[in-house]
This record gives sequence, structure tokens and C-alpha cells, in this order.
Amino acid sequence: MGDKLAIHGGVKAVPHGTIKPWPPIDDVDREYVLKSLEQPTHTCGPNYQALEKEFAEWAGVRHALFCNSGTAALHMAVVACGCGVGDEVIVPAYTWPSSVTCCLHHNAIPVFADINWDTMNIDIPKIEAAITPRTKAIVAVHLHGLAVDMDAVCDIAKRHGLRVIEDCCQAHGATFRGTKVGLFGDVAAFSTNQNKCLVSGEGGFFTSDDEDLFNLGKTLWYFGESRPPDGSAEFHTYGMGWMYRATELTAAFARAQLTRLDDYLSRQKENAARLTECLADVPHVILPAEPDGFGHNWYNYTVRFDMEALGHSDDAAAFRNKMVGALKAEGVDTGVWQGWPVPKMTVFQAKNGYGHGCPWECPHAQPVDYSIDQFPVAQKHADWHTGMTTPLRAPNGPDVAEAVAAAFRKVMTNIDQVEQVE
Ligand SMILES: *Cc1c(COP(=O)(O)O)cnc(C)c1O
Repeated sequence: MGDKLAIHGGVKAVPHGTIKPWPPIDDVDREYVLKSLEQPTHTCGPNYQALEKEFAEWAGVRHALFCNSGTAALHMAVVACGCGVGDEVIVPAYTWPSSVTCCLHHNAIPVFADINWDTMNIDIPKIEAAITPRTKAIVAVHLHGLAVDMDAVCDIAKRHGLRVIEDCCQAHGATFRGTKVGLFGDVAAFSTNQNKCLVSGEGGFFTSDDEDLFNLGKTLWYFGESRPPDGSAEFHTYGMGWMYRATELTAAFARAQLTRLDDYLSRQKENAARLTECLADVPHVILPAEPDGFGHNWYNYTVRFDMEALGHSDDAAAFRNKMVGALKAEGVDTGVWQGWPVPKMTVFQAKNGYGHGCPWECPHAQPVDYSIDQFPVAQKHADWHTGMTTPLRAPNGPDVAEAVAAAFRKVMTNIDQVEQVE
């Protein structure tokens, strides 16, 4: 108290260099990648095949296909579930946009459901309300590493004959009732982008226990080609296909990182627990929940500022941005993860997709309403939050969590100084 905030020239609560970058790189990475360089092949070689097997084992799933992004994996998931022209897919109003645009890629129509304030995930009762005779699937996004209640989602899907796509891009190792996510729905997508819990630079996995669905999604992976079981190439395009393969070098890097994934995840859990302890009595912050039966992976530790208590309900986003600025000045690596509810984005408001109104005005589609007042919780969350990834990741330890909490305490007990920021 009485401390001068760094944004006004005070001493930083988190000294420069305290927070180490993600991901850690060591000799295991160097060995896998350099060895891969010496191989005669740089596409779909031994690392690629080994990685798919090792990831499937880690995830507990029968089939895993490595691809060049989580977005590619989501697109394959949409196709595997038979979602095409004019079909509707229920998606959360707050997520990464590609959990939603993956539907547009195949001319399917996303229908948004608002999120739940406590979990930040899709609000289960809103799913049921969004179902129409055209609904084909639900995208369950385990946002920030907290699983969606998959008992509830699978129950709805079963009663209405819908497919379930799990977006696990942020949720490696997150659990629901003790089972890892990715095993509840029909198909799942994981990302191995730079910011995710398992990194290969860019990359992803399309997974399924169901061989037929897996093969259906897989046709997109390689020019629409279906390969006979012996793997020989026919060079025949059976239908719509993209080029979603990753490189052998990427696979080698992913294999090296995968050897440490479980260590990374336990470190994240430990750090998050420490941060929660240290933030418990900091005023006007709303801490993320981990309800009973849910195992958070703490991909992103998201804090909401209590804008009502702070007297900033009317200019929440603007004042939140000032607080984020003050925290950054203190040396905390934090920021707005996504400032927009997805339906508010231009592609949905302008319905500009493929042009000429497509897919929304296609004769196979029914009109859908994207008016933003249907998603007040997503909007409030977008305006009130700030998120943290790197400070909780390996190699950072609980000492970093303590330093971060000290910065939050300093800023939140000197709000008058934040008010003075222009
Ligand atoms: C990162 C992410 C994606 C997309 O993954 P990419 O590998 O970047 O294409 C999809 N959904 C969610 C929730 C994500 O966080």
C-alpha cells in the first residue's frame, strides 16, 4: 500500500528476467531434431509414425493423425461428423474463432450458445435451446484447460442424435471425472502450436476411437485421397481434400516435447495452486474455478476483475485495459486472451464467409440470428478478464506465481493510481 506503481515510474514487482519463456528446449529436442535432419525423408517418415503412436498412447485413444494445425484437425472433425452444406453445428459464443470457422469451411452453419460465467465454457442449457431439426453436431471447447461437463453434453447428443466434437486444443491432459478429454465425444482436435501445452511450433492431432469416422476425417488430410489399408497411394481424389500434413521435422520436435508433457502439466498444476493461494485475499479479483470432478490443466489462468465493485461496469473493457497495462508495467506477462465474443466478429456479423451470402443464404440453409445481445455472458467475460499462460508454465516454478500474485496485490490495492492513467 502506498507503493508507487511501475506504470508511474515505481519499481517493478516482477523483475525483468524472472519469467522464463515457453517452451523449455533441451538436449532431447536437439537430438530428435538433428537426427531427423540426417534422415533421407522429411515428410511422413519414422518420426511422424512414431509420434502418432506415442500421442495416441498418451491420450488413450485408438487413432491419432498428426496434421499441421489444430484448425486442420477441427475441420477434419467437422467432416468426420458428416456436417456439410446447410447443417447446423452448435458452438460456444466465446472461444478461439477456428472452433467455429471450421464449420464454415464445409458450408455448415454455426449456431452460437452463450457461455457459463463460472466455467467460461458453453452453457449447457443453452445447447438444448439451440437445437433445430438441422443440428448435426456440438463443438465442446474445453476452454483454457477446464473440461466441459461431458456427461451433460453426451446426454444431450444421445437424446437428439447429434455428434460431439471435442476441441481439446487448449486441454491436453485436462480431465472430467478422472478421464482425459478427447475420449468423450466422437472425434477430437488437439493443437501443438507455440502457445499450447504441447509444442511443435505449429501442428495438431485429429483423434478418434471410431475407425470409420477417423478415416472419413482423414480424407481431407491428403488431397481427398483415401488410401487402401496397405497404405499404398492411388493418387485418386475421392472428394474434397486439403493438404493438412505437417513435416517430419515438426514431428521430431513434437516427439521430444511429448517426453516431458506430463512433467509440464504437473508443474502447471502446482503453479496454479500456488497462485490461487496467493491471490485468495487480493481485493476485486474473481479467480478461476475448478469444480469437483474436473481436472484443470491450467493452460490459461484467467482472472476476472470485479468491475461492479470497482465502479466500472459501464466502461469495463477500457478500465480492464488500464489494469492490464499496470500489471504489464509491473512485469507480469498477462493480457486479454480474446476481447471479442466470436459472433461479434465481422465474418459472422457481415456473414461474408465464401461471399454471395454463402453458406448462410444457400438454399439448403435456414436463417440464423447472430445478434450480439443473445450472448451477454460472453461479452462480460470478454470485457472483464485478463489471462496468463507463460508465468505458470515450466520452467517457471511457484516462486514466479508468488511474484505474479505480489504484482496483482500491488495493483489492486493501489487502484487510485490506475484511475489516474490517461
Ligand atoms: C489454438 C486453438 C485452436 C486452433 O489451433 P491451431 O493449431 O492454432 O490451428 C482451436 N481452438 C482453440 C480453443 C484453440 O485455443
